Amino acid sequence: MIQESSLNPQNAVMRDVVPAGDYYMKVVKAGQTLRILDMEGNQAADTLFYNANDPAESYSAIDTIREQGNVYLTAGSQILSNEGNLMLTIVADTCGRHDTLGGACATESNTVRYAIDKKHMHACRDSWLLAIAENEQFGMTKRDIVHNINFFMNVPITPEGGLTFEDGISAPGKYVELKAEMDVIVLLSNCPQLNNPCNAYNPTPVEMIVWD
Ligand SMILES: [Zn+2]
Repeated sequence: MIQESSLNPQNAVMRDVVPAGDYYMKVVKAGQTLRILDMEGNQAADTLFYNANDPAESYSAIDTIREQGNVYLTAGSQILSNEGNLMLTIVADTCGRHDTLGGACATESNTVRYAIDKKHMHACRDSWLLAIAENEQFGMTKRDIVHNINFFMNVPITPEGGLTFEDGISAPGKYVELKAEMDVIVLLSNCPQLNNPCNAYNPTPVEMIVWD
């Protein structure tokens, strides 16, 4: 569902540009609103959410999909945790659809899906692990890495239940906006993948904008 925002980036309290292949790991407080902006279009933003007061509580694809009865996320979607609590609500979305099923790229999956010599290419899982290592204050380990949301990524399901990565439906300037319903750690890998169309073979930056 397309829902535009009335928030003005000039009034934001935090703005960060995240280059492709880099990560974002910050706390967004309950009541704040986070916009993820696809600056140049057709980018995939592999994202995890954690309860900032207890990172053992994290985004749960299973609970979120089951409770809303739909595998895609868009305006109105409620992001639930593995404890069934409401973490965030999507309050605006100009892309229209976000993936819950495709997962994140990893050096291991790159070798299986593409070629053995893709092993050393950058991957989202490595970006998350680097984020956790460089942000010890959160007390997280690789065991905390769970299944993620792919904002802006197009993974349509066929009538037979098949799953494919397709060319993106996002475009320059499209965004998704989430209101935090609890203090959340936002852990985002701006995907560097070059082997499938999720980034249109040209990974580009995203901007993270937060309002009080
Ligand atoms: Zn990736």
